[in-house]
Amino acid sequence: MNEEDSHVACSECFNDIGLKLDAQKIGTLNDNKCPICLKNNGQKLSSVQLEHLAYRFFVWGSLHKCDYGAAPMVQFNEHQKTSIQVSPWLKDDIKIFERILGIGFFHYGPRLWMVGEVEPLKALQNTKTRDAVIERIINEYPSRTIDNHEIFYRIRKSPYDPDNWAEYDSPPEHVETFGRLDSKEAPALYVSPDLDVCVHECRVTAEDDLFVATLHPREQLRLIDLSILLKEENITEFESLDMAVHMVFLATKHSYEITRSIASSAKKAGFDGVIYPSYFSLLRCGVMPLQTVYGISNRRIPEYQEIEQAITIQNIAIFGRPLKEGKVKVKCINRLILSRVEYNFHFGPVSV
Ligand SMILES: [Zn+2]
Repeated sequence: MNEEDSHVACSECFNDIGLKLDAQKIGTLNDNKCPICLKNNGQKLSSVQLEHLAYRFFVWGSLHKCDYGAAPMVQFNEHQKTSIQVSPWLKDDIKIFERILGIGFFHYGPRLWMVGEVEPLKALQNTKTRDAVIERIINEYPSRTIDNHEIFYRIRKSPYDPDNWAEYDSPPEHVETFGRLDSKEAPALYVSPDLDVCVHECRVTAEDDLFVATLHPREQLRLIDLSILLKEENITEFESLDMAVHMVFLATKHSYEITRSIASSAKKAGFDGVIYPSYFSLLRCGVMPLQTVYGISNRRIPEYQEIEQAITIQNIAIFGRPLKEGKVKVKCINRLILSRVEYNFHFGPVSV
C-alpha cells in the first residue's frame, strides 16, 4: 500500500475549527479524494497522524494545571467507549476518531503524583519540614563551576543609562519586585546562556527599548546545578526528590517562598549561585509537561532521561550584586530589536 492509499481522513472532515487547523498542521496536502468527506482540498491524514491529532487535541489540549504538576483531563484507548460530553460542534468529529481508530475517549483519573502528591514536594510546602528537604537538595545535587570562557546574557528594558555596565547588575535596593530566587535582603542577578529564554522571561514587547549585555565570570563561579535530572535508584514518583524539584521550578509565584529558601541555603553552603531549569523550557521546546508512559513519568524511564535533560533550558541566578562585587564582567552591550515574533499553538476542546 503506498502512502496515498493509507490516508484515512482529512482536515476538511472536521467541524471544530481548532481541530481542523490542527489537522492542517499535521496532515499532508495532495489532490486525492478523502475517503470520509470526499473532498480533495483537505490535508490528508494517515491513521498514525489521526492518532497523533487525537492525542494533541484531546489529551494535551485538556491539560489541567494544578498548583504543582499538571494532568490531562481526557485520555483515549481501544478498550473504552466514549463517555465524555463534548460541545455540539465536536459531536460528529469525535465519531470519526472512534470509527477509524477504534478508540473511545474518557475522563482520565491521573496518578496522583502528577498533581503534586510527591512526598518531598509536600514536605517543601510545609515550613516545619522544609529545611530537611532543602538540606537533601544541597547535598544531593551536583555543583558546577563556570569559568571566564562561558558567556551569558542579561536583558534590560529601557535602562536609564544603557551604556553603563551597572545597569546590568542585580536590581538596585529600591526595587520592590523580586523573582524566583531573590528578595530584598538577598539580591541576585538573573542571566541565561539562552538568549531566547532571556527575551521570554523579560516579557518584552515590540514597543520596549531593549538592551542586552553579554557577561562572563571574572573568576570561577561555583554554582549548584538544579537543572539536572537527578538519577535516583528504586524510587517511585511519589518519593522522588527529582520530581519535587522539577515541579517546584515548573510552578509559578506560589512556589517562590520555597525557591527563595533553597537559594538562601545554597548561599549559606558557599555557592555563588544556582543553575535552575527555566519555566520556559517546555514552551521553548514545544513539549507537553510531565509526559508519561503508562502512568510512569518519562523522567523515571532510563531511555527517556537523555531527552528530558535535553529539553531543560538552564537559567542562572548569581547571588549578591556580582558586577559591583567584581565576580562578573560586561563583555559587550548591544541594542536588541525584536524583528519578528512567532507563536506556535494548538487547540483543545472548550469543555469535556
Ligand atoms: Zn475529509
